[in-house]
Amino acid sequence: MQITVKIKLEPTREQISLIQATTKEYIRLVNHIAADFVKADASLTYTSKAVAAELSSAVKNQAIRDAKSVFKKYKNNIRANAELKPEDQKEVRVPILKKPVSIWNNQNWTLAEGILRFPVLIDGMSHRVSVPVLLTDYQHELLKGKLGALRITQKSGKWIAQIAVGVSEKESSGEGFIGVDLGLKCPAVAVTDTGKTRFFGNGRLNKVVKRRFRSARRQLGKLKKVSVIRKRHDKEQRWMKDQDHKISRQIVNFAKENNVAVIRLEQLSGIRQTARTSRKNAKNLHSWSFYRLALYVRYKAQLMGIRVEYVDPRHTSQTCPRCKELHKAKDRDYRCSCGYRMHRDRLGAINILSAPVIGGNSLSA
Ligand SMILES: [Zn+2]
Repeated sequence: MQITVKIKLEPTREQISLIQATTKEYIRLVNHIAADFVKADASLTYTSKAVAAELSSAVKNQAIRDAKSVFKKYKNNIRANAELKPEDQKEVRVPILKKPVSIWNNQNWTLAEGILRFPVLIDGMSHRVSVPVLLTDYQHELLKGKLGALRITQKSGKWIAQIAVGVSEKESSGEGFIGVDLGLKCPAVAVTDTGKTRFFGNGRLNKVVKRRFRSARRQLGKLKKVSVIRKRHDKEQRWMKDQDHKISRQIVNFAKENNVAVIRLEQLSGIRQTARTSRKNAKNLHSWSFYRLALYVRYKAQLMGIRVEYVDPRHTSQTCPRCKELHKAKDRDYRCSCGYRMHRDRLGAINILSAPVIGGNSLSA
């Protein structure tokens, strides 16, 4: 499985100007070569020696490859356009790279001891730049896989590295199933097919921290310190992301401990279902955070050889597992006329475990 690990760079001012120059030169070269291809109406054979640019030859080669795929995309767009009815046809433009970016292939960069090293050209001479990076434990673990290309780009003012990593999926040895219900009060509940239950995360703590962040933001809002508010917001986002990483890790570990082959989750999407069919969908303010947690569970499960299946979320919080009648739970307590009683949060996970599985393995509809 191929994944991308995104890490934040902490370059010095001098390094920033070197990276800026390189990425600017890189997109200039890609756009220039792509324009040549368009003019010739063919993907010409270019060598790094024949191409003039203030870039090392490995990076030039990468730019040539990028230009080829830009040209291919352009040709595909032309072809697709030609198949449309004349009144629907539009002028097809050559895609032009605008965002600063540069790519180094796997032999041209290293990452060790929190330092990312890659070459840039200064006055025709290759120099290695050593930029400190911030890695989470999870990223550190992922980066033990087979490293591919390094892509450096700028996003909302920050320099980030996107590293392609080939990670091996483990063969599944499990047999059992678990249903996992994601919620607000309790971030996640898992029930195994043998009836074991585990609650994950701390919904109340979540709320307290969120409230603290919010009131701090409001205080700052009065002082109109926009940059500080943004920093706070970023910090809050990081904190929540970190929580999702922790919870997903715990869910997958629980699955592993219980010899599970398949994790069942609710299908989350804003397209097919409305807010009525699932309390976690559509315009729900929290839908994104559910989606992210589900995504993390899938990632981590796949790495451990555990399959993830998505089930139809309709009525999972209302159906009685024994008689299949629908009831609304009162507070945390679910009672059915047939005598069945259950903690409401467990009920969702129990029903997810046996709900109809939706085909494919995509998270969205
Ligand atoms: Zn019942």
